[in-house]
Amino acid sequence: MNKIDTDKWGIIGHDNVVNYLGLSLTNHKFAHAYLLSGNRSIGKKTIAKRFIQTLLCEKYIEADVASEMPCGECQSCKHLKKKMHPDYYQLDLAEDKKNITIDQIREWQRKLQNKTFLTKYKVGVINGAEFLSMEAANAILKTIEEPTGNTIIILIVNDINLLLPTIVSRSQVLKCGLVSDEVIYGFLQKNSVGRRMARDIAKLSFGLPGKAINFMHNEESLQIDKAAILQVLNIAQKPIHERIGFLQKKFQKQDFIKSQKIANEIVSIFTLITRELLLYKEESENWYRLEFASDELKEFARNLSLIEIVNLTNKTLDWRTKLRQNINPQLFTEDLLLSF
Ligand SMILES: [Zn+2]
Repeated sequence: MNKIDTDKWGIIGHDNVVNYLGLSLTNHKFAHAYLLSGNRSIGKKTIAKRFIQTLLCEKYIEADVASEMPCGECQSCKHLKKKMHPDYYQLDLAEDKKNITIDQIREWQRKLQNKTFLTKYKVGVINGAEFLSMEAANAILKTIEEPTGNTIIILIVNDINLLLPTIVSRSQVLKCGLVSDEVIYGFLQKNSVGRRMARDIAKLSFGLPGKAINFMHNEESLQIDKAAILQVLNIAQKPIHERIGFLQKKFQKQDFIKSQKIANEIVSIFTLITRELLLYKEESENWYRLEFASDELKEFARNLSLIEIVNLTNKTLDWRTKLRQNINPQLFTEDLLLSF
């Protein structure tokens, strides 16, 4: 069996997924529909893009020799690069909408009925397939099961649990897990990031290559992330009336979607903090991630019992679930920040 040179793909981590797709390409054997799932910034879109580049490359179609690399120079490669490829149909959630609508899906399906213009394949991508309305989700079942000739569907989701099981079972599922700190660190070193900075970025990317790349190009965003963590950590240790004041200011004059974003951020930071607090309690130094906040964390850990930290961890997990259920974000963020 061929072995894929995953380095050539330029993807950080995800060797299994890259290998699988690489072998599909070298063997010219494809599923009707692929489902790429994994956290935001984990690399799903980058993997899909690399796969599609080759799939639509004229040289790939012509080649007798199995190859999984796009040429980058043919008409098809150039069109795709300019985001003007006639055989590529991408669907996204509109910015001001909560769902991908049935009308959007019908339009996308209608386009996928076209014959291919440039090469052998047509590709239909749905970014954020978990946002398909129930009607839209049911409507794509048929497209996945019996696509028109030479059509390959790629669904991209952050949370596979929010998809209809019938969609999942009809797709080739490719799960992208968190990438290890070592792999991210190695990538940063290859890109001439200094040792200390690379270590800092690898720890604060939490297994998400997209985050690491963002930090690498934009050091300021690394500082902003650190400041946000420190702010929540500080406020969590203030008297209750100050915690309430902090939240009131945060949520003041924000609409529901913005409030949800703010709540999401606070809950995410709490997830990091509670994980770290447990490590501080156990003195598992090797696993610390938030080293820049070690004084504040030590102090916080000292003031909480192990049981309290475990309870807080469970509550944070519970709130992560609630965040998806359209519950008033300010109310439950208050509940979280006032519960210790
Ligand atoms: Zn090409």
